[in-house]
Amino acid sequence: MSTQSTLPPTRHVVVFGSINMDLVARTPRFARAGETLIGSSFSTVSGGKGANQAVACARLGVSVRMVGRVGQDPFGDTLLEGLRSDGVNVEAVVRIPGSSGVAVIEVEDSGENHIIVIPGTNGEVGTEDLELLETALEGAAVLLLQLEVPLGSVLQAARLAQSHGVPVMLDPAPAQDLPPELYALTDLITPNASEAASLVGFVLETEEDVLEAGRELLLKGVREVLIKRGALGVTWMNAAGTRTLPAFEVQAVDTVAAGDAFNGGLAAALAQGFPLEQALAWGLATGALSVTKSGAQSSLPSRAEVLELLAMSFQPSAINDLPLE
Ligand code: ADP
Repeated sequence: MSTQSTLPPTRHVVVFGSINMDLVARTPRFARAGETLIGSSFSTVSGGKGANQAVACARLGVSVRMVGRVGQDPFGDTLLEGLRSDGVNVEAVVRIPGSSGVAVIEVEDSGENHIIVIPGTNGEVGTEDLELLETALEGAAVLLLQLEVPLGSVLQAARLAQSHGVPVMLDPAPAQDLPPELYALTDLITPNASEAASLVGFVLETEEDVLEAGRELLLKGVREVLIKRGALGVTWMNAAGTRTLPAFEVQAVDTVAAGDAFNGGLAAALAQGFPLEQALAWGLATGALSVTKSGAQSSLPSRAEVLELLAMSFQPSAINDLPLE
């Protein structure tokens, strides 16, 4: 891997997206309709895909500006304080009346979960935030988008990034149909296998299905397709070809927020000037380390941990290099 001194100066990353408080209740089993159950534990954990990706990136020592909204409620205080304490710049996080975004999560002892997301102030992200985004984009290395704020705002954010020459990394999660223009504005798209399936309309069961999904996403106008495949790593496709980069081998404890960790790690490396292939190693390392600990933001690794894993491990080598048809 190149040394820092040979790289261009680090630029900042901008995240435009959701900030949520996760309310997590553990229960021996799910309640039936009309039934009251005694659960075993409860915790409140800061989350939201946007905020998770911002924190993942900031923990790797890269400057991050978050654009989004929280409510003027106690969760808003906690969420802002959490982002600040991780070093995320929150000058463009607007506080408005109403409830902050919340995810009510029930986890059964078996590990199964039920999740209800109430967008709250994330659902209000709109025009005013785009003005703040425009300022934040100046000199940015990359804009990170996800789909937990209104799709119209996501599309406008992507347009703004393009007009400022800032590459767009879109995490199409939670999965939903995307307007054709959004694909064309996207430099890097990072679905997991099930999100890729819902974008292309077929399940990704075989290697050929993965390649076919990647080809379809490229045809829609995306420049780099990165399909996140859990313990299998990531399949990277562009006009030049296809590579599957294997995951780092780790002891997996809890895969919550692995995808957000991957995106944050990838963005942090791009902001430091690493070419995409090396940046993918940062994404893979950050994703792998996040599955070794439980929780979402609580599982996101430090820069030292990522550097140690990158140094210890062989650079993930490509398997099945294939030319695109
Ligand atoms: P999502 O969380 O969006 O479903 P994945 O589960 O594919 O996404 O995880 C994102 C990335 O995190 C993977 O591409 C991989 O790099 C890393 N990762 C996830 N699970 C594991 C695992 N069991 N071992 C090593 N790395 C993992």
